[in-house]
Amino acid sequence: MKLFVANWKMHKTRAEARAFAEELGRAIGDGIAGAELVVAPSYPLLDAARDSRGRWALGCQNVASETEGAYTGEVSAGMAADAGCTYAIVGHSERRRYFGEDGPVLAKKLARCREAGLVPIYCIGETTEERDAGLTATTLVRQLDALRSDEPSQPLVVAYEPVWAIGSGRSATPGDCGSALVHIAEILSARSHLRLLYGGSVTPENCRPLLAAPRTDGFLIGGASLSAQSFAAIARA
Ligand code: PEP
Repeated sequence: MKLFVANWKMHKTRAEARAFAEELGRAIGDGIAGAELVVAPSYPLLDAARDSRGRWALGCQNVASETEGAYTGEVSAGMAADAGCTYAIVGHSERRRYFGEDGPVLAKKLARCREAGLVPIYCIGETTEERDAGLTATTLVRQLDALRSDEPSQPLVVAYEPVWAIGSGRSATPGDCGSALVHIAEILSARSHLRLLYGGSVTPENCRPLLAAPRTDGFLIGGASLSAQSFAAIARA
């Protein structure tokens, strides 16, 4: 089963989410053989994005690092699970960059996901500067350290998302993608239920060779997932 995750970021109203769900339902019919779909909207859109037929699962884009309490504005992993999420994106580069999330806080978020029964989609990837300095492998190793206390028998999704490829229209080559994912798989070889995604400017046009890259189990998709038609086209590929 390949896994396709739609990361809507901070986009859409409830009416737009409902329209997307109807259109995606029509586009995939009884579902796409061999493809598991996840839609990760903002929290207020979860109900509107839900599929009553269960053809896609719901994910959230972030969880709090604490379980509950006086943390104004935060949403706990338990609340996300209670609202119907089965997956949670953790450590997206936009969270790292704009909200200062780093290894220790992300390790706590991963632990909160486990307590709530959410499968984490843990995002890692190097910046342009790190890539230019030949630090891609070092960066991935450092970011994977947040998984050190995570139980290796638990299901885990890791998304390799080079920061320079996110929203830039410049995806990684299948060669870059494959070598990063093979490296990640080697580091995480003790894990029994590991799926590896690529993310960064995936479109219906470029997805086929990327999906054929070594160790690629699917995609985390931003911009192209805002359209039900292009999300379905990528999953169908
Ligand atoms: C993302 O934000 O996770 C992402 C992959 O975005 P895009 O597909 O727009 O590059």
